[in-house]
Amino acid sequence: MKPGKPVAIIGAGIAGLTAANFLYRNNIPFILYEGGKKIAGLATSFKDKEGFSYDFGAHFITNRLANAVGIGSDCKLVKHYGEAVWLNNKSYNYPFGLVKIPRMSFGWLADRLKAIGKNNKPESAADWFRQRYGSVLADEVALPLLEAWSGAPGEKLAASLGDGLFGGSTLRTFYLKTAGKLTGRAVACGYNREKPETPQVWHVYPNGGISTLCEKLAEGLDDFIKLESPVDAILVENEKVIGVKVNGVIQEVSAVISTAPANILAKLVKGTAALEGASQFRYRPMVFINLKFEGRNILPDTVMWFPEKQFPFFRLTEAPISMPWLAPEGKTIITVDIGCEKGDDIWAMDDEKLAELCLEHITSIIPDAKKKFLGSNVLRTPIAYPVFLNEYEKERKDFEQSTKVENLLSVGRNGEFSHMFMEDVYWRTQKKVKHLIEKMGKEPKIIVRHNVIPVY
Ligand SMILES: Cc1cc2nc3c(=O)[nH]c(=O)nc-3n(C[C@H](O)[C@H](O)[C@H](O)COP(=O)(O)OP(=O)(O)OC[C@H]3O[C@@H](n4cnc5c(N)ncnc54)[C@H](O)[C@@H]3O)c2cc1C
Repeated sequence: MKPGKPVAIIGAGIAGLTAANFLYRNNIPFILYEGGKKIAGLATSFKDKEGFSYDFGAHFITNRLANAVGIGSDCKLVKHYGEAVWLNNKSYNYPFGLVKIPRMSFGWLADRLKAIGKNNKPESAADWFRQRYGSVLADEVALPLLEAWSGAPGEKLAASLGDGLFGGSTLRTFYLKTAGKLTGRAVACGYNREKPETPQVWHVYPNGGISTLCEKLAEGLDDFIKLESPVDAILVENEKVIGVKVNGVIQEVSAVISTAPANILAKLVKGTAALEGASQFRYRPMVFINLKFEGRNILPDTVMWFPEKQFPFFRLTEAPISMPWLAPEGKTIITVDIGCEKGDDIWAMDDEKLAELCLEHITSIIPDAKKKFLGSNVLRTPIAYPVFLNEYEKERKDFEQSTKVENLLSVGRNGEFSHMFMEDVYWRTQKKVKHLIEKMGKEPKIIVRHNVIPVY
């Protein structure tokens, strides 16, 4: 690699490793600093001694991402992926089953007719959802879910959240879901914004777990990855980064690519006020409880949404319905998502009590859940989802454009403060790093490998 001041990359999740891999292939010196003991960040996979596998939350990736990273032939095909909503003690297929509830479809139609000729710009996420789905569906399903998930009422959330999460057309969803049924593949729907969603893009799962993506990107880069090396400060002079401070030592750098959460990045940066706006951004902490059970396919579909307030959780995922290899034969694992705040009762609750709380409520949907229960484990993260509050929407939009420090990039899901899945993290990071290299006066080359055909 060429001599000279290196680029500092902060974080060894998929974003940091994509950046590292890209710089390496372009012969640009870099050092990747990871605060933790290992690589992969939110894409870490776990396997317990009883043979159950799980990730931070349940993870579905696409064949296009696997091919681009170079692990396409080392993945299993996911044949089915479905979602349902639990309402009034019944399961409704999502999204089309809900349309069969007359008050939802008539409510939607009535609201649409009322809106004719009006050009109401939504002022909040609550407005956006009511305009898009009608007030009955919004108030009974979409908004309670949104609120459980983000920890803030729909009226306080920005309308841009709706476009970001559900911007695709209903017709397209129908087309992709039908294509999935006809081809016997879980065609990805709602997972990509950077590249088109087509019947040729479907879900796969790496044989070695989701973290294989990161391991592949890190291949051959050991000498440039420093684990247990949290970056304590990013030093800026005249709106240009000049160095980073790691374990008390200053390293001069030519640029910084950060994947740290945007609000943490704002605090790391010294010598500029450019990132002050981002210091207000909030992330929603989550507790994930993995419950192990005797039996298989014990939920109506892979993902079940729970908008009703009597449930402490808003989502259950039985990943083995889609990916049977994640649990030993005849057994299954259900991931329970509970939104919380750091230090509140849920966050502080001990693991056994959390499992009891979940089991208590799961009996509404799986009556013999307690009899089938085999054990549990709990994962907590303080930064699961960016919360798009209206109070800092202007600052969020500014930050989306740039960090305003010439040679400082903020990439990745939490770095961009965006609800991105991994494929978008991958393409967006490459695009932004390519732009940075050009700004440094160099000619980047992108090596894209998405033409490799996977073998199943
Ligand atoms: C519940 C849940 C479910 C999801 N499901 C899916 C899914 O099904 N499919 C999908 O494609 N995506 C999914 N995602 C999104 C996916 O996990 C993320 O987009 C992706 O893992 C983000 O990678 P990243 O590199 O941007 O960030 P991270 O993985 O968070 O990596 C950031 C790294 O930076 C390190 N770091 C932070 N600060 C410092 C510092 N100061 N110094 C050094 N290191 C630092 C951290 O330790 C971490 O390792 C899901 C996310 C969640 C939360």
